[in-house]
Amino acid sequence: MKAVVVNPKGKANIEVIEKELRPLKSGEALVDVEYCGVCHTDLHVAAGDFGKVDGRILGHEGIGVVSKVAADVTNLKIGDRVSIAWMFQACGRCEYCTTGRETFCRNVKNAGYSVDGGMAEQCIVTADYAVKVPDGLDPAQASSITCAGVTTYKAIKVSDVKAGQWIVIYGCGGLGNLAIQYAKHVFNAKVIAVDINDDKLSLAKEIGADMTINPITQGDADEIIQEQVGGAYAAVVTAVSKTAFNSAVDAVRACGKVVAVGLPSETMDLNIPRLVLDGIEVVGSLVGTRKDLEEAFHFGAEGKVVPVVQTRCLHDVQDIFEEMEQGKIQGRMVIDFKQHKCNH
Ligand code: NAD
Ligand code: ZN
Ligand code: ZN
Repeated sequence: MKAVVVNPKGKANIEVIEKELRPLKSGEALVDVEYCGVCHTDLHVAAGDFGKVDGRILGHEGIGVVSKVAADVTNLKIGDRVSIAWMFQACGRCEYCTTGRETFCRNVKNAGYSVDGGMAEQCIVTADYAVKVPDGLDPAQASSITCAGVTTYKAIKVSDVKAGQWIVIYGCGGLGNLAIQYAKHVFNAKVIAVDINDDKLSLAKEIGADMTINPITQGDADEIIQEQVGGAYAAVVTAVSKTAFNSAVDAVRACGKVVAVGLPSETMDLNIPRLVLDGIEVVGSLVGTRKDLEEAFHFGAEGKVVPVVQTRCLHDVQDIFEEMEQGKIQGRMVIDFKQHKCNH
């Protein structure tokens, strides 16, 4: 089968190779991949930001159909459509797993990073951790919810924002377009979208942002937000830049919450008097649990959230990685594994 693997010598640190999968073990299922989105995390993994994983099959926004199950699997059957997510498998027994925080399990496995992921024609999944895609949800759109959607849905839950309150979303790319939609159409918050590219901001407006700010052309987002709405109740930062994290701390009102989601390999400044005197909270949020993904899918199936996706051929994958690095992508690029036998 064809698979996208990490290779520091390849264009965009990746290459497409032929690879054979091992036979299924107990508790596993084989998935014929239909679609896999390209997340900015794939770029971090390929660049070695979290450690070297040369040869690893990338991809954690995978959607496909089960074509085989191990004899002891009872929760999945052939023909089920399921996800291949960053939250690939956890121990199920530790203090994190048993208290609704399984993404922080110390023995977690992550698709496309610590185990082979969904950017391939087929993928082996741990059946208990593959989340079913509801009927009525387009599979290419579902791929985008498998990481970008669940991550931002969960981050907004963590932010504690209430209906009618202002929330600011930094970064309006693959994650950001979904953050805006969940915040607006599921949590009924008022949304400020911040990005350094105007094309991202016009998309943000189209999908429901109440206010948009480009800090490059309009000035500091935090100052504008303090001035116009008295500070946001919460911020979700998906931008891959410490500038955005620093601005978020200044954009919230007293007792506001800053939810860190983006993963730039940098350090943010945290003014201690600001933190203490104004009771600011800063917290990291990592993807979402299986239950969070089930809920996030559900809002997609209901049409409350419509991921902005464009399907592309597998042969374009290196170009997609470069376009993402350059900030040229609107919404999400999704690799179509059913159409890969094109004439390239
Ligand atoms: P993306 O490239 O699609 O979007 C990033 C957006 O940030 C772009 O629109 C870009 O223009 C904008 N941006 C860049 N600098 C900015 C600045 N200074 N201020 C405002 N906006 C700015 O990337 P993505 O796929 O949405 O991923 C975003 C980040 O989130 C990545 O670091 C990724 O690894 C991380 N991520 C984290 C989790 C998690 O669970 N915490 C899950 C998925 C992705
Ligand atoms: Zn991701
Ligand atoms: Zn655990």
